[in-house]
Amino acid sequence: MHFFSVTATVIISTAIAARGSPLPLQARAVNFHILTPPTDGTTPTPGTTDAEVCSPDQVSAIQAAIVDAMNMANVAIQVLGVAGVEKSNGFFWLFGGAAAATPDEISRRFGFVNNLGTPDLITSTASFVKSPTDLIFTCVPGSTKFYAQTVNLNRPTKSNTNPTLNLIRFGPNSLAQLGSQRAGTSRKDSLSVPAACRYPPIAFTLVHEVQHADLLLENPPVDHLADQLGPNGKAAYGFTQLQLMDQSLKKLNPQNYAYFGLLAQSNPEFFAPDCFIGGPLGSRRRALSCPAIANGIPGDVDLDDFEDDDDLA
Ligand SMILES: [Zn+2]
Repeated sequence: MHFFSVTATVIISTAIAARGSPLPLQARAVNFHILTPPTDGTTPTPGTTDAEVCSPDQVSAIQAAIVDAMNMANVAIQVLGVAGVEKSNGFFWLFGGAAAATPDEISRRFGFVNNLGTPDLITSTASFVKSPTDLIFTCVPGSTKFYAQTVNLNRPTKSNTNPTLNLIRFGPNSLAQLGSQRAGTSRKDSLSVPAACRYPPIAFTLVHEVQHADLLLENPPVDHLADQLGPNGKAAYGFTQLQLMDQSLKKLNPQNYAYFGLLAQSNPEFFAPDCFIGGPLGSRRRALSCPAIANGIPGDVDLDDFEDDDDLA
């Protein structure tokens, strides 16, 4: 199987070269920024990007989330490196099993999370307009249900037909858990109570958004992912929807990577090759063949408004 994955990579690379696509971006340095309020006494115009300023607590949370997301990605990469992981429940639920995806191609996408870097603080986006090397984190004000969104320079979205900045915009709900949440520390307990995990950690959201962020991808024309639809016709964000969606779409859906990263940290038993259940787990606890799983099942997280960044095209 490893031989097949290597062969496929070579074929894809050849096809890309033939189309004249740009070289991979990994050699390009990306500068990261967090937008904060002006220090000169002025007030940004409401409704503009510059009004999406982050509070000191939000700045700290985003800084921690970047570190957490990279930790999450590295745990996922470790889990994906275990022989036979594609036979596990977790891999089946989130990526459709060995018939639908290889651990190598999933691991590669977690590598994009490791292209994140340490942000500095800025008070205006003006000097970064049309910059192909700058990515700015902003905090959307108000009580809107808007969750999070990635905007890429020159890639239209439903809400912005001419983006001139690279942004990852966090809505109030995606910033609801300001604390840093790393592996361990009672994650299983909190995940087992749906009401307590109404909103996932910011690192979870970041792993998702990275899959949309062209600056962090190896080859954006090929690697950029849009959110896929679940069996109910809505974007698949909830854990139940992710399990029930078309197997071939799972590896194309950013939320599946977010859940994989989260569960690789909180419930590594999901990814043991010798614990295969097969069917979808759903949101209910069941008497399963693997006791550790029955004790650690997360409830379905209600994320209907996770974001709105589908491509127009
Ligand atoms: Zn998305």
